Amino acid sequence: MALPKLAHTPAAHDKLRALGILALNGMFDEMDAVGVLRQAATDVLPGDLAIVSSFGADSAVLLHLVAQVDPSLPVYFLETGKHFAETLDYVETLKKHLGLINVHAIHPNAADVQRFDPNGDLWETDPDSCCHIRKTEPLEPITEQYGGWVTGRKRFQTKERGVLPHFELTSDDRIKVNPLAYFNDADVNQYKIDHGLPEHPLFAKGYKSIGCAPCTSVVAEGEDPRAGRWRGLNKKECGIHFDFNGAIASPMTAATRHTLWKDGAFIADPFHEWADDSDPATASYKHVPLAVFLANRDTFLANPHPLGLLVVPGDRIEDVEADLGRFASIAIKFPAFSDGRGYSTARLLSERFNYSGEIRAVGDVLQDQIPLMRRCGINALVVTHEPTRAALLENRLPEVAIFYQPVGTTEVPVGTRPFLRRVS
Ligand code: SF4
Repeated sequence: MALPKLAHTPAAHDKLRALGILALNGMFDEMDAVGVLRQAATDVLPGDLAIVSSFGADSAVLLHLVAQVDPSLPVYFLETGKHFAETLDYVETLKKHLGLINVHAIHPNAADVQRFDPNGDLWETDPDSCCHIRKTEPLEPITEQYGGWVTGRKRFQTKERGVLPHFELTSDDRIKVNPLAYFNDADVNQYKIDHGLPEHPLFAKGYKSIGCAPCTSVVAEGEDPRAGRWRGLNKKECGIHFDFNGAIASPMTAATRHTLWKDGAFIADPFHEWADDSDPATASYKHVPLAVFLANRDTFLANPHPLGLLVVPGDRIEDVEADLGRFASIAIKFPAFSDGRGYSTARLLSERFNYSGEIRAVGDVLQDQIPLMRRCGINALVVTHEPTRAALLENRLPEVAIFYQPVGTTEVPVGTRPFLRRVS
């Protein structure tokens, strides 16, 4: 799908500047969705309006409005490279069904993906950055070409969207149009039925809000439809809606300092602590205490979401040997007092059980412990101690003394003198 060549139209919203966005909302507040879109496309921003669609569970409604107003309006689909195959099929289904003739896929910059997400798992460790390179960055040059763009967002979807108006003024003086702002869940479903719109193939399987495959999960009956997006993370928006009218959607706590150190940087941590009221059947991205896992093993094994395991001194990692593959991350607690059991647990995981997932140290992680932690197979650290944080950032960790006991895979021959046990 080639992108259309657009001659940049000088901002066609002089009229808007005069009226002001508030007046605009006042004028069209009572108007129905198709009326809002028609006004935007024909009067407010003629020839200067684009539609951005995720081709998700509700997208057919907005695109049906587009088809009624003008099927040649440019529609952009963020092809992040992480969509369900069903979504890509659905793009073709809706194009054909609605007669849309100006649909374009926007792809992330290949060099950015290669550089920042070579393994395709950035969504897991740093979803903000993943959304940034796969959505925000590719969309920017597109929206820059238009005086405004249309979204399918609705007030009912999240608390942050609860005050969403029909028209928003963006920080760069563009207009975002939200014709469905006042639709609720029932309105959306009724609209789809009334107009015989094709359903997203995953909707019937319990996916009520559909984005990229790794960040979308099934929603339980009665659950918030968007609860399945970035489940378990403090993330509700992908970033493309942040820059505009901060009162409606503000960025997730971007300013929050990350404490997870992995692969040479502090990154966003997708995992959260297990709480007393966490549900073994639905928990996601939690480190489950080993004892809790053993007490609810069958339920956890049936739980489809990513989980981690928390091991504290005294836990026997051998007790969950058969289930280690279930965990994307294993957190080993290092208490404030000197306790070497965490190192032994890490060695068992990495050397005897060949566990290849994330092994992280949590608790009281101090800089002089880190070299030995690494040698024991720990590949991630949760660091809250300021001097340790600075030491990591400035790459000044102490050397491990050569007389530490070796941790290689080769057993030291019986009788070897301690001073010959050099660390390889
Ligand atoms: S929704 Fe998930 S996979 Fe898609 S861009 Fe954002 S973090 Fe990446």
